[in-house]
Amino acid sequence: MIKTSVNIMRGCFGGCSFCSITEHEGRIIQNRSKESILEELQEIRDKVPGFTGTISDLGGPTANMYRLGCSDPKAEANCRRPSCVFPGICHKLNTDHKHTIDLYRSAREVEGIKKVLIASGVRYDLAIESPEYVKELVTHHVGGYLKIAPEHTEKGPLDLMMKPGMGAYEQFKAMFEQYSAEAGKKQYLIPYFISAHPGTEDEDMLNLALWLKKNNFECDQVQNFYPSPMCNATAMYHAETNPLKRVKYKKRDVVPVAKGERQRRLHKALLRYHDPNNWPLIRQALVDMGKKHLIGDGPHCLIPADDQQKQTPAQRRKSGRHGANRFATKHTKSQPGFTPLRKGRNQPQATAAQPTKSQQRGKNAAKSKQVS
Ligand code: SF4
Repeated sequence: MIKTSVNIMRGCFGGCSFCSITEHEGRIIQNRSKESILEELQEIRDKVPGFTGTISDLGGPTANMYRLGCSDPKAEANCRRPSCVFPGICHKLNTDHKHTIDLYRSAREVEGIKKVLIASGVRYDLAIESPEYVKELVTHHVGGYLKIAPEHTEKGPLDLMMKPGMGAYEQFKAMFEQYSAEAGKKQYLIPYFISAHPGTEDEDMLNLALWLKKNNFECDQVQNFYPSPMCNATAMYHAETNPLKRVKYKKRDVVPVAKGERQRRLHKALLRYHDPNNWPLIRQALVDMGKKHLIGDGPHCLIPADDQQKQTPAQRRKSGRHGANRFATKHTKSQPGFTPLRKGRNQPQATAAQPTKSQQRGKNAAKSKQVS
């Protein structure tokens, strides 16, 4: 637990397939009272050594589910839906964010608290139902970057994850940009994605990579799906069946699952399409998929045809596949760490004087005979 972050609730009614919070914390939100939260803020202010006045988070499993829930207790008691917000927001769900807005305002007024940040994930399909909440969040509670989790761009995987489509993301992004501009702040959205989630095919990951490239995103941290206890996605992974639809003895909805080292690595590599270390794998996959036109230097291409040109001399040396001197150009000669070849000494070692593979094998065989 981060010492300057405050938990305001437990539970989540999102029901995302890859997450087990709904199972172990419950679908009905358990809220703390506003007074209790404000008391904790004062306690942090008074007791945390070195407290600078910044609260790093006021949240929970989802930042914006505080005091939200089903408006009909009878329906809630009998409801079997795994999510209140997927495939669409249930008409019985109360989406009024007034309690969260009120809490944020009161938290900002606590003496000695200079800044309250929201670091928990914002459920953006829910947030766009309350523009006033988005405005409050963007104007006062974003520390430059706001992390949100579309998780994918393609409908197939998104439906199996029980996540909203990219339409909701685009709407939230437009609101975020508008309110940031109105507040005179330069702030950015950081979208999170998952690779290799059950239901994700190579083509889906490729489309996601092309979307990332088109939108100038280069993900540093990415999640490659791993089956974990109590998740629907884990059942999908092992049974290769969609448990969100009715499963009969001889009739089931088959789910494609990325398994095996190569395919899982490829899906992750596509999320990090900008990393030169991933280019050989992606290049081969694009050839296999009949998408050679995406290899090259054109604006529509995903990766370059030749990774040598895109690496710095330091990266080429580190790769260990060849010496930098061998591929020296005018440009590399001007690099600070470049050592020119000296005639008669290191030049032959780098090129012609290197024994061929068969010569080397012969030498090795002779050596092993001498030893025996
Ligand atoms: S009726 Fe709707 S809002 Fe109520 S619990 Fe079920 S899905 Fe959620």
